[in-house]
Amino acid sequence: MQQLTVLGTGVLGSQIIFQSAYAGKDVVAYDINDEILQKLPERWEYLKAAYRRDIADATDEKLDAAVARIRATADLANAVGDADLIIEAVPERLDIKQQTWEAVAAVAPEKTIFATNSSTLLPSDIAPFTGRPEKFLALHFANEVWKFNVGEVMGHPGTDADVFEQVATFAEEIGMVPIRIHKEQPGYVLNSLLVPFLNAGAQLFVKGIAEPADIDKTWKIATGAPAGPFEIYDVVGMMTPYHLSKDSDDPVMREFAEILKRDYIDKGYLGKGAGRGFYDY
Ligand code: NAD
Repeated sequence: MQQLTVLGTGVLGSQIIFQSAYAGKDVVAYDINDEILQKLPERWEYLKAAYRRDIADATDEKLDAAVARIRATADLANAVGDADLIIEAVPERLDIKQQTWEAVAAVAPEKTIFATNSSTLLPSDIAPFTGRPEKFLALHFANEVWKFNVGEVMGHPGTDADVFEQVATFAEEIGMVPIRIHKEQPGYVLNSLLVPFLNAGAQLFVKGIAEPADIDKTWKIATGAPAGPFEIYDVVGMMTPYHLSKDSDDPVMREFAEILKRDYIDKGYLGKGAGRGFYDY
């Protein structure tokens, strides 16, 4: 599959676009208006700097060639007109996903395979809106796709097996390690492991069992892992765990949310990106 269209040019969409173009795909970037699309050159500069830093053979020539393979448009019919594959990375709300896929279904060619990058919705939640459930599945990326390059491929019970394999192959072609998930699973493999791990760290901290740095040290020394839960919280940023914890059924997790807000968020300690979180950078 050579012609890719990505819907949504935010944090993940822009990374998927750039990574695919870097790997030689022809990519159309779609977003809801021209104002948002005008911010793309800034995103490419940010990503070019990240690739230069993290990828040994990322030359200026290769990075410029990637940008040259990207075309941006706010016209949906034009965006999807020749797509072999569409990857949707619009905001994580079922109503927006529904509206987006219904609009795409009305204009996309028959050949096109549809994929969502949704982190928390299941493919079967979205499939009914696509008009072609057999050609619909999830291809889930991790933030900083050029570095944390897993591509979790997850269908719903109605996804065609050949479509599934084509998408796994595509993921590999753009430099991802495809992870074939056999059954629908909320959180895929990654977040099924990561979320309970991070919650366990939070519990130890809130209950006063040990300091964050010592919790991280224990995990790193004893398992050889490169980061502990609080270093991961700092990379993710405080807002996501705050939103996930504040309405938890577990009072300890609600207390964690209060601590995050009072001692970190309200002080501007939003994580590594802000220069300070659980650690000072
Ligand atoms: P984001 O808010 O950064 O970007 C969303 C983009 O979608 C914006 O550019 C916005 O203008 C655009 N958009 C809004 N409404 C739209 C519409 N109707 N049609 C097309 N585009 C529209 O969000 P994000 O963090 O990039 O997340 C996007 C998707 O990727 C979500 O489903 C999320 O679960 C998933 N995801 C995010 C991460 C992450 O770490 N941020 C990781 C994996 C997967």
